[in-house]
Amino acid sequence: MKAIHINGATLEYKTQTGGIVRALNNVSLDVEDGEFIALLGHNGSGKSTLAKILNGLLIPRLGDVEIFGVNTKDSSKIFEIRSNIGMVFQNPDNQMIASIVEDDIAFGPENLGIPREEIIKRVDWALEKVGMSEHKKATPFKMSGGQKQRIAIAGILAIKPRIIVFDESTAMLDPQGRKEVLEVAKQLNKEENITIIWITHYMDEAVDADRVAIMNDARIVAIDTPQNIFRRTDLIESAGLDLPLPLAIANSLREIGLPLEGDILTEKALEEELCKTLK
Ligand code: ADP
Ligand code: MG
Repeated sequence: MKAIHINGATLEYKTQTGGIVRALNNVSLDVEDGEFIALLGHNGSGKSTLAKILNGLLIPRLGDVEIFGVNTKDSSKIFEIRSNIGMVFQNPDNQMIASIVEDDIAFGPENLGIPREEIIKRVDWALEKVGMSEHKKATPFKMSGGQKQRIAIAGILAIKPRIIVFDESTAMLDPQGRKEVLEVAKQLNKEENITIIWITHYMDEAVDADRVAIMNDARIVAIDTPQNIFRRTDLIESAGLDLPLPLAIANSLREIGLPLEGDILTEKALEEELCKTLK
């Protein structure tokens, strides 16, 4: 069974001035259980709308969305869907509920009516998974953005979802915070087999994904391995995106005659290929 099955989703918003904006135009997407998908697209391309149809926050006008085989149109199953799919948003401050970390994390499972002992176990487990165990009794308000996002992730984890959607969850963070949060997402994917949808406008955050999807103008215009996607320079440009920096540098060096080989998507790959070539 697919973790996510979207078939021909189309959705419009009514604007305040009475106009209509199509945010999803016949979007189809299948995601396997345990995949890490990076979703890239310029501002307004429809990424957040796509995120919102996944947990039934929005229902597409046309088409269907199924999460582990359950259709989001089935309102009797919305509870099941919401416990299977967690969302981490952009602003860590908007996701804090309680003033003590452990209470904040316990909030989700408490709402689900999980027994007290089980909640205590989950809180400890979730904090460990995001590397924040020593902050259990702390107050989140004084923490760095990266730490707050990791607390938010722990709060989602405590619900034990099988899918987590990160909607530009690193956009407000400094480079260190960005790295921390991406690392946690990658680890949860590997160790807990949680399916990840990683929405970002930082190209370098997409290079280790299993597949990269590109959104443009309310459509998914391409989905493939990072290597295959970033080889398509025209596609990336027409979607209003940049190449990952190491690849852009490698391409410039190739243009001036340096015979660099392979797909150079990371700093490490660039460094290795440069050393090899210059020798
Ligand atoms: P992204 O997350 O890629 O920036 P969104 O899904 O937020 O894209 O938006 C897609 C399009 O829908 C944009 O043109 C945006 O202005 C419009 N839109 C998003 N939310 C609303 C809304 N609540 N009301 C009207 N238009 C909206
Ligand atoms: Mg968005």
